[in-house]
Amino acid sequence: MQCGKCDLKAVMELQHGALCKSHFISYFEDKVFRTINRYQLIQRKDRICVATSGGKDSLTVLYLTKKYCEKYQIPTNNLFALVIDEGIAEYREKTVIDLELFCRKHNIPLKIAYFKEELGKTLDDAYPIINQGTSKKPCNVCGVWRRYLLNKHAKKIGATKVVTGHNLDDEAQAIIMNLFKANVDLAGRLGPLSGGSEHDLFVQRVKPLYLCGEKEVRLYTVLKGFQVQFAECPYSKEGYRHHIQEMLNEFEHKYKGTKQGIIKSFLAMLPRLQEKEEKQQITPCRKCHEAANNDICNACQMKEVLEIAR
Ligand code: SF4
Ligand SMILES: [Zn+2]
Ligand SMILES: [Zn+2]
Repeated sequence: MQCGKCDLKAVMELQHGALCKSHFISYFEDKVFRTINRYQLIQRKDRICVATSGGKDSLTVLYLTKKYCEKYQIPTNNLFALVIDEGIAEYREKTVIDLELFCRKHNIPLKIAYFKEELGKTLDDAYPIINQGTSKKPCNVCGVWRRYLLNKHAKKIGATKVVTGHNLDDEAQAIIMNLFKANVDLAGRLGPLSGGSEHDLFVQRVKPLYLCGEKEVRLYTVLKGFQVQFAECPYSKEGYRHHIQEMLNEFEHKYKGTKQGIIKSFLAMLPRLQEKEEKQQITPCRKCHEAANNDICNACQMKEVLEIAR
C-alpha cells in the first residue's frame, strides 16, 4: 500500500486514504492541535497539569501538550506531569519507570502521589476489603480515588487545567457505559472539556486526544519510538468497561465508523447535558473539604469502609 500523499510505503489506512510514517505523524499531531484549538482546551494563562500513567496515551498527550505550548509560544515552565501510583503490583511500578525516564528526557517536572500514603492502603490491599463491604470492583475504587487525588494535587500545585490522555475509544466506551447504566448525570461530565464550567473545588479536565482512535495513538507511540509498556492493568478485564470495549471493537470491525458515530451523536447532545450538570450542587466534603456531590465525597466514603473493617 502506498501513501496517498507521496511515493513512500503507507503505515496506516485511514478513512480518507493511506499515509506513510511522516505523513501519519503530521496528520496525527495536526488533529490533536486542532482539537485543542477548536474546544479551547488550553489557554495562554493556564498552568497545566498533565495526568500521566506512563502508558501510551499519557506519554503521547504529555509530549504533544509540550509541543503545542512550544508551537504557540505558551511558557512551558507552567507545565508539569502528575502520576497517581495506585499500588498495583507488577504493573504500575513498571509504567512509572518509563514515565520518569520520559520526563527527564523531555525536561518536564513530575510529581507522584500514592494511594497508600493518602488513602491508607494500596489498591491491591484496599480493593478486597472494600469489595466485601460494597461489592465494588477494583476499577470502581481505583477510578474514584484516582480522580480524587488528581484533582487534589492539581489544585495544590495551582493548576488551572488537568490534561488527560483519554482517546476516542475511551470516550465512546464511557458514553455507552453511562447510557447502559442510565447515569444521565455523569454523562454531562464527559466531552473534550469535562464539566462545562469552572469551579473553585474542581480543576477542569481536558482531553486533547478526544478525536484520536486507540489504534492511531498506539501507532504514533511506536513511530515516535517512545519507550512504553503496552501491558494492561491486571484488573482491567474485571471491569464493566472491558465488556463494552469488546462489544464496540466487534461492532467497529463489522460496521466501520461506529465509534466515530457515538462521539458525533454525543457531542450534539452535550450542551443540553451540561446545562443539567451545571445545576448540580458541588460543596466541600465534610471530612476532607474536597469537592463532593453529597455531604461526604465518594473517596472518603470508600475510605470509611476500610476504617470500619480495621
Ligand atoms: S484498569 Fe481499573 S484498576 Fe487498572 S488502572 Fe485502570 S481503573 Fe485502575
Ligand atoms: Zn507520505
Ligand atoms: Zn472527602
